[in-house]
Amino acid sequence: MKIHEYQAKEFFSTYNIPVEKYVLCKHPDEASAAYRQLGRAKAVVKAQVLTGGRGKAGGVKLVSSEAEASWHAQAILGMLIKRLPVTKVIVSEAVAIVSEYYVSFAIDRNTRSVILMMSVEGGMDIEEVAKLSPEKIHRFSIDPLVGLPAYQARRFAFAFFTQMGQVDQMAGILQNLYNLFIDKDASLVEINPLVRTDNGSLLAIDGKMTFDDNALYRQPQVSLLAELTEDEQTEGYAREKGFSYVRMDGEIGCMVNGAGLAMTTMDMIKLYGGNPANFLDIGGSSKPQKVIDAMTLLLKDPNVKVVLINIFGGITRCDDVATGLLDAFNRIQNDIPVVVRLTGTNEKEGCNLLRGTRFKVAESMGEATRMAVESLHQH
Ligand code: GDP
Ligand code: MN
Repeated sequence: MKIHEYQAKEFFSTYNIPVEKYVLCKHPDEASAAYRQLGRAKAVVKAQVLTGGRGKAGGVKLVSSEAEASWHAQAILGMLIKRLPVTKVIVSEAVAIVSEYYVSFAIDRNTRSVILMMSVEGGMDIEEVAKLSPEKIHRFSIDPLVGLPAYQARRFAFAFFTQMGQVDQMAGILQNLYNLFIDKDASLVEINPLVRTDNGSLLAIDGKMTFDDNALYRQPQVSLLAELTEDEQTEGYAREKGFSYVRMDGEIGCMVNGAGLAMTTMDMIKLYGGNPANFLDIGGSSKPQKVIDAMTLLLKDPNVKVVLINIFGGITRCDDVATGLLDAFNRIQNDIPVVVRLTGTNEKEGCNLLRGTRFKVAESMGEATRMAVESLHQH
């Protein structure tokens, strides 16, 4: 689970990690009032959305008047950043930045421990730094039994600073951030950038936190902050219906029984030059209601241009599945191409029932996939 920057900063403040002043706004008028309230010449209007890269998407703007604050807030509040609509912004005191650093704690599966990552090249290009010059990112494993005592924190802080005042400040921030990470069952806490200002103090001007969903039951304060994205809502619907569903970026919606067959279907789609829109295991039987629920789920994704149904009839016989499909599609109003491949018990009977209907019937998995990819190009 992710939270917004302003929520991460509330946690930071509670843990004595210094942040700048900011005001949360949902309306341009609130943004101009916030500018006035902060009482500084310069302020920053920032999109609050559950993804990074806001700066590069135009979601972070420096402003120097009430009118500008309101104008930029209006523009940002209408934006989509990586498909997510922006419904909130913060207006924060602008900071005179001397340098930008990157600091994060995350779970590292390789070392089976928490890892501290730090870089003196923080800021919006940290992904580039990680790719092109990984040596500029320091990585320190934290022993779970020892945690992060002051002497360790100070040792890490020396990676950035030599002046003792700054080393101590940095060490304090590292310890506090680590405690926050552990206390809240986070899987990531990130400050990017942590900045040194012109008066020498350190300030977290961006914050990101992700939490371990499996620990939310014991983190009521965190759970309260959950805001489900559209994708998460869809995944919730799938869980409710007893499906296992993962959304992807392709155009071929898959409806399959069995996780292994579902994986294979996705591989086959790739092999034939297509892209799956999802993983979907509908489980055992193929009752009409189940097919309707699965189609409802698939069609929530506007990218789906064709549906590929791949069913292995074991205990559930293929002719029953076919009857179920016909029944279900009589009730569903849409003309999206649907390719069906049935195999297993009574497959001949099943396929015969479907021939001459709206379904495109395939004999083999290869043929089914090819037909699905081809009908994509016909549209
Ligand atoms: P992100 O793009 O989603 O990571 O958003 P950030 O909050 O990290 O902001 C992106 C960049 O905007 C930062 O790396 C800074 O360079 C710049 N920025 C943000 N706040 C301030 C500020 O108060 N003063 C100045 N000068 N730059 C800022
Ligand atoms: Mn950032």
